[in-house]
Amino acid sequence: EAAGQQLDRLVRVQPDFPQPGVLFRDLTPVLADAMALDLLARALVAPAPTATLVAGIEARGFLLGAVAAMSLGVGVLALRKPGKLPGEVLSESYDLEYGAAALQVHPGDVPADARVLVIDDVLATGGTVAAACRLLRRAGAEVVGVSVAVELAALGGRAALARQEADVPVSTV
Ligand code: IMP
Repeated sequence: EAAGQQLDRLVRVQPDFPQPGVLFRDLTPVLADAMALDLLARALVAPAPTATLVAGIEARGFLLGAVAAMSLGVGVLALRKPGKLPGEVLSESYDLEYGAAALQVHPGDVPADARVLVIDDVLATGGTVAAACRLLRRAGAEVVGVSVAVELAALGGRAALARQEADVPVSTV
């Protein structure tokens, strides 16, 4: 919680972005601050010290996933939007408020005994992270946790995840 309070001051809250009525949490000031970035990286991995791989969700989850993986001493997996990965891919779709989206991974990048920590910047409705968990499991991994920098509690993502991914602990910095 101490780390969260320090970092909270650096999160920019932007009304009406990317569309009217949305209160957007912008973490770029956290990423641009060396001490905050280090604090955040360590806080993201603290709940899952036995993870053997980190998965970062495109695109802001890539930045956090990479620094978190470095701080844990493991590699990072890129969970990408469709059309970006050149090799054989697994794909998992999920619903957005308007329309649908999907995440993809190279299954060949996931070792058979991988214990994966999923990382993203913001947990809102939970749909994105739930799709990431399903995708990783289909690739043969065990998902040992989900860590996000910011949780928008009013959107109910934690409860939605608990219904779909009951065994996966969710941590918020
Ligand atoms: P969810 O699937 O509804 O949980 O939405 C989470 C996804 O939307 C994450 O990948 C976030 O990067 C993005 N997102 C939702 N709200 C915000 C926000 O306020 N700031 C930054 N990203 C957001």
